[in-house]
Amino acid sequence: MALTIISLIKQVPLPGEMRMGEDGLMDRTKAKSIINIDCQFGLEAGLQLKKQNPDSRLIVCSMGPKSFEVALRTAISMGYDEAYLLSDRKLGGSDTYATGLAIATMLKHLGFTKDSKEPYIILAGRQTSDGDTAHVPSQVAENIGIPQATFVESVKDDGNGNVIAKRIIEGGYQILKLPFPCVISLTPTGIPPRKPSLRGAIKARSLVITTFGIEDIGLGTEKIGISGSPTIVAKVVNIVSERPTITMSEGQNEASLVDSLIANIKKGGNVLEKKEHEAPKKIERPDFPEKDFRNASRGIITWAEITNGAISRPSLELLTPARKLAGQLGDDTKIITLMIGKNVRLLAQTLIEHGSDEVILVENDKLEEYLVLPFSSIFAQVIRKKKPEIALFAATTSGRELAPRIGMKTDSGVTADCTGLEIGEYVNRKEKTIYKPVLESRRPTYGESKLATILGFVCPQISTARAGTFEVPERVVGREGIVSSFEPVLNDKDFVVEIVKTARGGGGLQNLFDADIIISGGRGTTNDNLGLIKALAEALKSQGVKAEWACSRPVVDEGGAEYARQVGQTGKTIRPKVYVAVGISGAIQHLAGMKEAEKIIAINHNPKAHIFNNADFGIVGEYADIIPELIERVKEGFTFGINGKEF
Ligand code: FAD
Repeated sequence: MALTIISLIKQVPLPGEMRMGEDGLMDRTKAKSIINIDCQFGLEAGLQLKKQNPDSRLIVCSMGPKSFEVALRTAISMGYDEAYLLSDRKLGGSDTYATGLAIATMLKHLGFTKDSKEPYIILAGRQTSDGDTAHVPSQVAENIGIPQATFVESVKDDGNGNVIAKRIIEGGYQILKLPFPCVISLTPTGIPPRKPSLRGAIKARSLVITTFGIEDIGLGTEKIGISGSPTIVAKVVNIVSERPTITMSEGQNEASLVDSLIANIKKGGNVLEKKEHEAPKKIERPDFPEKDFRNASRGIITWAEITNGAISRPSLELLTPARKLAGQLGDDTKIITLMIGKNVRLLAQTLIEHGSDEVILVENDKLEEYLVLPFSSIFAQVIRKKKPEIALFAATTSGRELAPRIGMKTDSGVTADCTGLEIGEYVNRKEKTIYKPVLESRRPTYGESKLATILGFVCPQISTARAGTFEVPERVVGREGIVSSFEPVLNDKDFVVEIVKTARGGGGLQNLFDADIIISGGRGTTNDNLGLIKALAEALKSQGVKAEWACSRPVVDEGGAEYARQVGQTGKTIRPKVYVAVGISGAIQHLAGMKEAEKIIAINHNPKAHIFNNADFGIVGEYADIIPELIERVKEGFTFGINGKEF
């Protein structure tokens, strides 16, 4: 039976031209538009699958205003056959839950259900540049009731009715075998998207795009648009960051420039002191009655992700905001942590000593490695039993697909990639009511230039927290808590995805979170394929320093490094003691991943490079001259002050 390949795309404002309207929502009228970059990779992946299945039918779908037809026609000119647009004013302001629901309803209306007789695959971009949540692919998969793989680097048909997907995980990758039908979301690291062809462009001009309104697909208004969405954007403020002025190296040649750098670092002084967000305007609090919307829901649940038999560091970091929120909520608010795995009981005490009050264990041989289908089903069962008011996940690749899948099951909204979590209140002037207490989830948005506060009024209020943002709470040895077991209902259909291989650690897959010093190469260092960057990291390692190398996004996009090494908004957020940015311009999306480093050193041949506005120490020079000189100094014992060594 012929395969149907469905690509979901979104038209987005050209990054850099994004503007926010008065209402806190994206104003699409002022910016040039493109197909979201990740979706372009999804489109290309579909065309590659067609090569393997010449009889297959290629469909492209989108949801948005009529102007999104431009993106659909571009997809047709790249080689797609049919285009569908879900366009209805009532969808305006939908959050990711409502968007996932609406798109899934359109697909089901087109005949793509979990029981479809004909095989199909839904491809999507990992995330969009205007929303940046990565939720919608998971929500579509959950709503249709089919398996998924997100953060996928490559996808192919194995010829036996399965899809083989290479999925990025923390510190490595996994090869998954999924049956049709399934949803796959693509990172930008696959085969570059092709340009539209002339023949395609002629076809696109005359093609009729089928446009649906919500009534056409049988979708009501209860769960869509601003009023039907479980989350709202309550507030948006500018992000103001404070780092002391940079100290630049002075010298006539690379040796004197490096001497000057070492002397400047020795003097010290330049470290990140504090960061502030623009103070919101003070508005008088009206005298409205307060409403507690939580009903019987109480307490906080977190997920302990297990990697290589240990609790992942981002899962331990979660306990810092969890403890703070519990303190703000008062009334003996408890923190429960759910740990799923094989023989994980021994790890429970670690969670308790870091701040959990109760650890719920689900142990089963079949659950040794994380899989989104059984894990989301188990999590939803625990939520139904324990009724937490808040659920927190680390925003790792697994956390970012698990949380929205659970959110769909529990009808809760999810806030992605938070850097701040507080308990607050929401003044609803229309209803003349103050909702309290409510979780205020704060996340950087609009290319990291603004901080949005998102609220949800359905329990559990779900958020994912950006890894590396919170410190791991101090361990209190001997702290007491409850360890209990939970017997979930396990369904065979949740085990249809097979893990063919899991690779973590070693070589190119090192986890960057543990390194004290990171040498990071940008597009300016690709001449020698980051050879000097790697050599400097190696030299530091030889001195006993926990050093690693990383890179900016263009290096990954051009195939120069694995995605696991990418630092930035769509890569990793790290806070090493020292971050050395070499040949990196300092785009806001890169800064998002490293600006919390204790000390930032920038090396760039352009004295006006933006990175110098965000670093503590800088050298203007050719990296090919400066780095060999630095390597020599490291061999002589210079370690940027790491390991307590003198310079
Ligand atoms: P460039 O901007 O090209 O800068 C190269 C620098 O190298 C220049 O400053 C140049 O002066 C310097 N240079 C060149 N040659 C030399 C030399 N011989 N010696 C010394 N210096 C030299 N980017 C990320 O890094 N991470 C992300 O997670 C990320 N996510 C993104 C998400 C979205 C939605 C979008 C739209 C973009 C994202 N980007 C991300 C891309 C980001 O906007 C920038 O394009 C990117 O960070 C630029 O990388 P770069 O600094 O290496 O390259």
